[in-house]
Amino acid sequence: MVIKKQQLAEIAELRNQTNHTLRPVSKELEEVLYQPFNVLDHGFVRVIDYMGNDSSVVQSARVSYGAGTKKVNADKALINYLMAHRHTTPFEMCEIKFHIKLPIFVARQWIRHRTASVNEYSARYSIVEDEFYIPQAQYLSAQSKVNHQGRDETKILNKEEQKKVLQILKADSTNAYNNYLEMINQDADGNIVDNNKEGLARELARMNLPLNCYTQWYWKIDLHNLLHFLNLRADSHAQYEIRVYAEVMLDLVKKWVPHCYEAFLKNNKTGKNFSGPALQVIKDKLKGKEIKQEDSGLSVREWGELMTILDIK
Ligand SMILES: Cc1cc2nc3c(=O)[nH]c(=O)nc-3n(C[C@H](O)[C@H](O)[C@H](O)COP(=O)(O)OP(=O)(O)OC[C@H]3O[C@@H](n4cnc5c(N)ncnc54)[C@H](O)[C@@H]3O)c2cc1C
Repeated sequence: MVIKKQQLAEIAELRNQTNHTLRPVSKELEEVLYQPFNVLDHGFVRVIDYMGNDSSVVQSARVSYGAGTKKVNADKALINYLMAHRHTTPFEMCEIKFHIKLPIFVARQWIRHRTASVNEYSARYSIVEDEFYIPQAQYLSAQSKVNHQGRDETKILNKEEQKKVLQILKADSTNAYNNYLEMINQDADGNIVDNNKEGLARELARMNLPLNCYTQWYWKIDLHNLLHFLNLRADSHAQYEIRVYAEVMLDLVKKWVPHCYEAFLKNNKTGKNFSGPALQVIKDKLKGKEIKQEDSGLSVREWGELMTILDIK
C-alpha cells in the first residue's frame, strides 16, 4: 500500500483546516495541498507547503513596495524575459516543500542535487518498511548499446527473462527483509519476537537491505533550483524511475506558478543550448551551404546529436 489508512485520515484532517492569510497563494496548488500523488509501486510526491506564486517573482524583479504586478501579459512577458536572460534570483523568491517516498537507489541520484534542504526518515530510529520497488514487466529493458549509462527503453526483455528477473527481485527482497527482522528480533510492526534475545541495533541491521527499499524525506527547495533539478531529471536522459517523480513535480509546478512553468518549457525544457561550432552548422545549413561532419569542428557524437535535434536524417 502506498499510504496507510491512518495517514490518509491525517491528511484529510489537515485538508479540512483553513487558514486566513494575507500572503500570495496559488489557487490550483491549494486544491492539491498535502495530497499524495502515487509514483512507482509504493512511492508518492505531495506538497506540504509553499511560499509565493507567479506574482512573487514579478514583485521581487520590480523590487516593488506593493504587489508589483501589472497586466497579466506584462507579467508573463517579464517572467519570460527573466528566464530567457538567466536573471535567476527572482525565481529564488518562491519556495516549495515536498514529502517524497522513493526507492533508495532513486534517492541516491536525487541527493546529488545539493541546493535543497532535506530531512530523511531515520532507519536508525525506525523500522524500515516492508516495501520494495519491483518494476512492471514493460520497464525491464536491456542495457543500451549506445548510451552505456542506461537501458534501451525500446528493447524490453522477453517474457521468460522478465519472469526470471521478477522472481529474483521478489525473492531477494523478501529474503533480505526477513533476515533484517530476524536480526532486530522484531516484526514489521515493532513487536519483540523472542524475549530472550537483545536484537541487533537497527542502524546495523539495515546494512544488507537492498537498494529497492523505500525511504522518505521532506525536501524543500526554491523555484530556481527546482527548475534546474526538473530540467535534468524530467529529461529523457534521466533514469525512468527518477523521471516519473520529476514529471509529477513538473505538473505541480504548473499548478503553482503557471507563468514560470510556461517560460521554463519555452526557454529550457523544449529549448536547447548550442556550442559555437554547432551554431555555425545551423547558420550554414540555413544559408543552404553543404557542410560535412569532418569539416564542422564537431565530433561524430556531437554531429549525431545536432542532427537529431534538427530532425535531419
Ligand atoms: C543523466 C545524468 C547522469 C548522471 N550520471 C552521473 C554519474 O555517472 N556519476 C555521478 O557521480 N553523477 C552523475 N550525475 C549527477 C550529476 O553529475 C550532478 O551531480 C547532478 O545532476 C546534480 O547537478 P548539479 O550539481 O547541477 O545540481 P545541484 O547540486 O542542485 O546544484 C545546482 C547548481 O548549483 C551550483 N552548485 C551547487 N553546489 C556547488 C558547488 N559545490 N560548487 C560549485 N557550484 C555548485 C552549480 O551551478 C549547480 O549546477 C548524473 C546526472 C544526470 C542528470
